[in-house]
Amino acid sequence: MPPTTPPPAALDRVVETLATARAITVLTGAGISAASGVPTFRGPSGLWERYRPEDLATPEAFTRDPALVWRWYDWRRRTLAPLAPNRGHAVIAHWSNRRPGLTVVTQNVDGLHEMANTRDVVRLHGSIWEVRCAASCDRGREPWRDMRVPLPELPPRCAACGSVLRPAIVWFGEALPAAAFTRATAAARCDLFMAIGTSAIVHPAAGLAARAREAGALVVEINPERTAGSELADVALAMPAETALDALERGLALAEGRPPLPGQ
Ligand code: NAD
Ligand code: ZN
Repeated sequence: MPPTTPPPAALDRVVETLATARAITVLTGAGISAASGVPTFRGPSGLWERYRPEDLATPEAFTRDPALVWRWYDWRRRTLAPLAPNRGHAVIAHWSNRRPGLTVVTQNVDGLHEMANTRDVVRLHGSIWEVRCAASCDRGREPWRDMRVPLPELPPRCAACGSVLRPAIVWFGEALPAAAFTRATAAARCDLFMAIGTSAIVHPAAGLAARAREAGALVVEINPERTAGSELADVALAMPAETALDALERGLALAEGRPPLPGQ
């Protein structure tokens, strides 16, 4: 098991690599959005009425009762609508705009990376703000943005064919979008791989970190809790994402001789 260096030596090591790495990949999960007030699936706020997300975010649940699944998504959209990106999103966005070799890959569907102005986010699980035709008719196959909160009709219907619309989200048991997965896999060949706020148990998070390690990357985990991925990490920063990213941005700014991103 690789030793995990405690901060601040660990932070220094990451700053050093951040300053010199050409290819950097940042993989984010629900934890990056926790400080914005977005509930993660695990924990007490992860329960909606008497249902667990695992029982609602599936093609089977949608076929059985599209209105129920849509009530849950409409509730999540209403919960998300007033929320804003936090310091963690802001720092990642800042880096993405300064460093052409940095790729942001997210499992999140909340749109907060995009709202923070992150360049070219690779979305592995789609977006809660996009819909598509559940029958995949010609005009409804490609997802489109619908930010109305609440939606006027549940379930919403496809204007082209009258079938129900579905959230353009990857549900449990569904394949990841091929283009996004290809880009994420290619991005795992990097000098620095940071897994932030993801439990790293599920595919593809675990696989990408392992691939990065094979490619010789320094693998960094940022998560206040230990995860199954902690063992794989060269450096595990046991801190909230917003705190760790703020500290890393300050260190990097110092190394680059520039002022840090204002805020916090
Ligand atoms: P997950 O498996 O990615 O786990 C969340 C992780 O975040 C946990 O390991 C937790 O320790 C960590 N965490 C909590 N607070 C943190 C903080 N301040 N900084 C850093 N890490 C922190 O996510 P999940 O909630 O179990 O959800 C499973 C799936 O559903 C994933 O695909 C996830 O992206 C998706 N989901 C997305 C959102 C969103 O879009 N914001 C919210 C919930 C779930
Ligand atoms: Zn249709």
